[in-house]
Amino acid sequence: MAEGKVVVIGAGPGGYVAAIRAAQLGLKTALVEKENVGGVCLNWGCIPTKVLLRNAEVVSLFRRARDFGVTVEGLSYDFSQAFKRSRRVANRLVKGVEFLLKKNGVEVIRGEGRLAAVDTVVIQPEGRELKADHVIVATGSRPKSLPGMVVDGERVITSRQALALTEVPQSLIIIGAGAIGVEFASIYRPYGCQVTLVEMLPQVLPLEDAEIAKVLARSLTKQGIRVMTGTRVEGVEVEGAGVEVRVSSEKGEETLQSERALVAIGRAPNSENLGLEALVVAIERGFIQVNRRMETNVAGIYAIGDVVGPPLLAHKAMVEGVVAAEAIAGVDTDGVDYTSVPRGTYCRPQVASIGLTEAQAREQGNEVEVGRFPFRASGRALAGGDYEGLVKLVVDGRYGEILGAHIIGPEATEIIHEIALAKSAELTPSEIAATIHAHPTLSETVGEAALDVEGKAIHVYRPSQAGSPAI
Ligand code: FAD
Repeated sequence: MAEGKVVVIGAGPGGYVAAIRAAQLGLKTALVEKENVGGVCLNWGCIPTKVLLRNAEVVSLFRRARDFGVTVEGLSYDFSQAFKRSRRVANRLVKGVEFLLKKNGVEVIRGEGRLAAVDTVVIQPEGRELKADHVIVATGSRPKSLPGMVVDGERVITSRQALALTEVPQSLIIIGAGAIGVEFASIYRPYGCQVTLVEMLPQVLPLEDAEIAKVLARSLTKQGIRVMTGTRVEGVEVEGAGVEVRVSSEKGEETLQSERALVAIGRAPNSENLGLEALVVAIERGFIQVNRRMETNVAGIYAIGDVVGPPLLAHKAMVEGVVAAEAIAGVDTDGVDYTSVPRGTYCRPQVASIGLTEAQAREQGNEVEVGRFPFRASGRALAGGDYEGLVKLVVDGRYGEILGAHIIGPEATEIIHEIALAKSAELTPSEIAATIHAHPTLSETVGEAALDVEGKAIHVYRPSQAGSPAI
């Protein structure tokens, strides 16, 4: 068992996982949190959005009930129930985490933590001082806003304020078509909200593979969402009961109007007011700099999660939490393999990916080979009535290394894990293809995309692979 005292500041997925792992390893552990345990993820991020997305999916299903021979008359909804369900689920998970912390012997301290010295954390407002051999900073991030734009929390809102709405806005301009922006588009559109997505970069989900982003933009447009890429927001004004958003693009300038505007342009790290500057902890563009063991340049101070930089994802924060706790306890650690962190976006259709996009793989000089399989050729997807999208594997042609995988379609965020496992075990497409996939499943699409890399796809016609010689 390791010895020593650890103080973790921030109880998001990074901090609470680090605290549990540290306690498991025998370290005396305290966890300081100024709001709720679970952090942004459980309270105002991953979880409540997934609840609202599920509710939206149910509404969509009722709207297309006729496709399944079901007649629904007088469809109505009460969004306040969706909101309540989102709070119920979040609170339940918070309680679950509190239970785990208690059972593992982690002392949870309410208040705002700040480093007064390398070995001292002061908790406000009480002013209690905690001595620590090791401190883990896990203070997360907050929404960014545009310079000069006033987020009044009423007409111009962030994701956090959106998650507290009990009514669906009649119209909404979403500034930023990253993961958070497109998820909110999918949350509100099924209720009839007029959604406009404004993105400065040339594609929706700017970090994703261009081919996948194109399929998503097409689908969102088909769903009645106005998608404006390559469009810069010049100004946001609250006007009477609504908002005016001035935008410019190659096509010129335009003023958009809506009931509310949601700002989803990214997140800023919470690295200020923690006493880090005085201790000369290295910080760049707000992100705390760490090594492979999640240790800062100041011995004894560690940092994990959103506050150390992208990808700003809960599971990345969790795995960094485990690495930090194990490094403190003296367990040998390889650190996090950032090339194997899967990314999921739970819009409709879902998007999931891992590793390099096709363009990145080519830029890095790989001999790129691509295998694809469309969901419209999957029996399971057709049976479910959801068959937009494809699975795309990006592979190094010389050694068969999986460089990246990109999925858009039903349950993409679940299916990606077969490829994540294959990638981290350094398997090749031949080994994925040789794995027998049950029929009919959505996972078969991964097997078929792997076969396609090798020119052996069965359930999709490729002229290059055809045909039987004459008998
Ligand atoms: P956080 O979760 O931000 O937690 C930090 C905690 O520290 C907070 O509770 C805060 O109150 C506390 N804190 C800060 N300063 C102090 C202090 N001085 N003293 C005490 N406490 C302090 N990620 C995914 O992987 N999947 C998703 O589906 C997903 N969906 C998202 C949807 C939305 C709308 C948003 C906003 C984010 C989403 N994310 C998602 C991102 C995910 O929430 C974050 O990556 C994750 O929460 C980061 O965890 P963390 O532990 O670094 O920080």
